[in-house]
Amino acid sequence: MSERLLTIENLDTGYDGVAVVRELSLHVDAGEVVALLGPNGAGKTTTLMTVSGMGQILAGSVTIMGRPVPRLRQAHRVARWGVIHVPENRGLLFQLTVRENLQLAKTRGNVDIDRALDFFPALGPLISRRAGLLSGGEQQMLALARSIVAEPKLMMVDEMSLGLAPVIYEELMPVVRRIADETGAGVLLVEQHVDLALEVSDRGYVLNHGDLVMQGLASDLLADRALLDASYLGVESLEE
Ligand code: ATP
Repeated sequence: MSERLLTIENLDTGYDGVAVVRELSLHVDAGEVVALLGPNGAGKTTTLMTVSGMGQILAGSVTIMGRPVPRLRQAHRVARWGVIHVPENRGLLFQLTVRENLQLAKTRGNVDIDRALDFFPALGPLISRRAGLLSGGEQQMLALARSIVAEPKLMMVDEMSLGLAPVIYEELMPVVRRIADETGAGVLLVEQHVDLALEVSDRGYVLNHGDLVMQGLASDLLADRALLDASYLGVESLEE
C-alpha cells in the first residue's frame, strides 16, 4: 500500500478566526495526483495555504507524514518536511537566471538540474536567461522544475494554467502525472480546467463555498459529468 502523505480531517480554516472552508476531509498518498476543484472563491487556495502552514486551523487537523501541521502559521517547519507549494504567482525570482532559480530550490545536497530538465527539456536552452524574461509557459515550467529539484514528498500546485494558452497547459498537465509516477511524490492539484485536471488525476474533490460537495475516483467524476457540473452550482442543486 502507498504511504499516506497528507491527511486532512474535519478541517475548518479561514481568516481572522472566520472559517471559509468547513469540515473538509481529504487525503493524498505517495504517487497519487489528486485534483482539488471548485469555482472561484470555493476555498481551494486557502486549503493549500493551510496545508503549507501558512493558514489558520480553526478546527480539525492537517497531518503530513504523521506530523500535525501547527494551528498557526509555521510554514518554515512544514517546508522542512518535504512539502513544496507552487503558488498561483509561481514564486520565481525574476532577476535571477533559470539555473540560479533551480540552484536556490535546494539548500542542502547536490542540485540535480539535469533531472529537472529531463521533465522540461524546453528550459535547457534557456538555462542562462533571467526568469523575468521567460514567457508565462516557460515560467510555469521553471516553477515546476524548481519543485522537482527540491525533491518533495508532497507537492501542491495552485492554478498551474492561470494566464497560459491552452496549448501550453495541455502540454504541462501530463508532466504533473509523470512527476508523480516517476518521483513517487504525491500531488495535490488545484485547477480551474476540470477535465484536463481529472484526466491526469487518480481522484478528485470538489469544493463549493467552502463545503466539500463531491469526491471520488477521477474516472467516476469524469463519467458523471452532469453531477460534476451541478456541484459547481452549489450544494442545493445537488440535493434537488
Ligand atoms: P480562486 O480560484 O478565486 O482563487 P479559491 O477556491 O482558491 O478561488 P480562496 O482564494 O481560497 O478560493 O478563497 C476562499 C474565500 O476566502 C473567498 O471568499 C475569499 O474571498 C476569502 N479569502 C481569500 N483570501 C483571504 C484573505 N487574505 N482574507 C480574508 N478572506 C480571504
